[in-house]
Amino acid sequence: MWSALADKALAGTLLSRDEARAVLHAPADELLTLLDAAFRVRRAHWGRRVSLHVLDNAKVGACPEDCGFCSQSSKHAGEGTASPSGEAPMKTVDDLVEGARRAHATRAKRYCMVTATRGPSQRDLDTICAAAERIKGEMDIELCASLGILTAAKAQRLAAAGVDRFNHNLETSERHYAQIVSTHTWRDRVDTVRLEQQAGMDTCVGGIVGLGESEDDLLDLAFTLRDLDVDSVPVNFLDARPGTPLAHYPQVEAGYALRALCMFRFVHPRTDLRVAGGRELTLRALQAMALFPANSIFTQGYLTTGGATPEADHQMIRDAGFELELASGEAEPANPEAMKNLLGPARRPSLPMA
Ligand code: SF4
Repeated sequence: MWSALADKALAGTLLSRDEARAVLHAPADELLTLLDAAFRVRRAHWGRRVSLHVLDNAKVGACPEDCGFCSQSSKHAGEGTASPSGEAPMKTVDDLVEGARRAHATRAKRYCMVTATRGPSQRDLDTICAAAERIKGEMDIELCASLGILTAAKAQRLAAAGVDRFNHNLETSERHYAQIVSTHTWRDRVDTVRLEQQAGMDTCVGGIVGLGESEDDLLDLAFTLRDLDVDSVPVNFLDARPGTPLAHYPQVEAGYALRALCMFRFVHPRTDLRVAGGRELTLRALQAMALFPANSIFTQGYLTTGGATPEADHQMIRDAGFELELASGEAEPANPEAMKNLLGPARRPSLPMA
């Protein structure tokens, strides 16, 4: 059955909802067969290439929004721990350029500047755009930004400054979103995705598994993203943050996480599918298995705490028989030796949010 779903996806035919649901229920004995089928689809469009993405938290904490999973929301302050890093001012242009240099040194294809905010202020936009122009003039790296809700003018300004892709996750289904966030709507987020597209930027739009959503919520998210024709889908797994309303939510089971990634691959055969935040915590020893449905990962940690080091990620990619995809589109072998001591020791994993 899984092979037949791969054939269907490769032929460009959208899976039925029941077929996508069946993927989420694949028996443990069939997990390897399922991953093999998803890999056939992934290999047809991405070969054995893995792209590394690096996040840079340009402005940490004190966000006025109330996303229930996020430790950077000011609404959760006083409930234990708010942002573990506290509130920090916007980084400077020099800081951001230096961050891009470090990302480039890890052989990352993409560098993403992120701010904890409802939407970018004029001053923050000026900083991001100035950094984008300098980074684009200095090195070959794809540039992404995740700055919250946009207007048409702000989207156009970012595109003109050289931002290639904008991230704005839908997180979950429209139905479940109001259980998680009250300060803006799921429709607000869809509107920003449309503005990104109209401005000519690639769209990076994903979600989080483990928000207490039903199976139908997860399927709705996958099919909505297909309808929106997004270019990139980051799939996060909840790493419940202390002090947030979701602090007590259980961790996603590793096998379910892999089945969810396979489901997203079948529904999004050509899309840049990323195993994103919560990878290390959720998948543990099975992390390399995620490379069979997904073609990209974050390295060098997440927004408020760290993740696997570039050295560990290069080693995993090499050991699993994959290779790196660079911004130039060329492939090169992963090189854990060259990554040694590049950024210091591994830190605890956490969840990227924006
Ligand atoms: S997810 Fe983004 S918008 Fe929501 S509270 Fe966190 S930083 Fe703010």
